[in-house]
Amino acid sequence: MPDCVAGLARNLDWASGFYGSGIGNERIENLLGVTPGDSTQSELLSVAGEIANKKIDLLLVHVAEGSPDDTESTVEFRALKGAGLLGDHTAIIHGAAFASDDFNQMRTAGAALIWSPRSNLDLYGSTTNVASAFRQGVTIAIAPDWSPTGSKNMLGELQFASRLNHEQLSGLFSDRELFEMATAIPARIARIDDKVGSLKPGLFADLFVVAGDPSDPFAALAKARPGDIQLVLVGGTPVYGAEKLLSQFKVRTETLEVCNTRMMLNSAALPAGRFSDVENRLKSALNKYKLELASLEECPQ
Ligand SMILES: [Zn+2]
Repeated sequence: MPDCVAGLARNLDWASGFYGSGIGNERIENLLGVTPGDSTQSELLSVAGEIANKKIDLLLVHVAEGSPDDTESTVEFRALKGAGLLGDHTAIIHGAAFASDDFNQMRTAGAALIWSPRSNLDLYGSTTNVASAFRQGVTIAIAPDWSPTGSKNMLGELQFASRLNHEQLSGLFSDRELFEMATAIPARIARIDDKVGSLKPGLFADLFVVAGDPSDPFAALAKARPGDIQLVLVGGTPVYGAEKLLSQFKVRTETLEVCNTRMMLNSAALPAGRFSDVENRLKSALNKYKLELASLEECPQ
């Protein structure tokens, strides 16, 4: 695996590690959209061909990322269908402008929905009508869209969704359902549920340990703060955690502060050198463009 992506997370876009050690072997395609500004006709045709020839398992495409009164958003869904890309190998990111009939069409075609509430609310003041999608039987997963308007990571997005679920959706989803929308369900959507997404013999040991009430682990996760993540394993390798747990693995560690909590990284999972050095190199590189490196975590106020 190339140094720049190996290590702290398994990345499905570039280097999941499922298909050899190089990059670009993944069985998914990402498109920013389907209208001419985002994708050319030949790009759309080539993706449709890759699905038909079973070269890829999934197309991830941002569609209808606006309010229901935004005509461009509704035109996009028509364009997706026109390109022959509404099918069971497609996951629509957003669908924020969709009404129940659109969700019905998605369900009939077997297309999945990726819900990114935080980014939607930040940009448009409203988010996907997931209650309607849920009632129509659409498969729904959660993810943070992108970092400028979405959460910094899955934990942050899960908590945002959980709060919204209680404040605006009268608890439509259980904490367990929200957890599955971030784990087993997206694994099924990407057809990698024979590799990750649940804790089962034969699957990669990608797992984490969170502090909280053990009698209600899904509620504990919904309430967890960055400092509550006690241990992270990727493919059975411990990469991050609290000293108490990570030190049991007898690996060389580097410490870092996460929301005023002292945490540890496994140095062997850091092929590009010490994390603090990488951080400094990135900071000075971004400095030239007058940009700042965002923090890894979002700490509660
Ligand atoms: Zn998006």
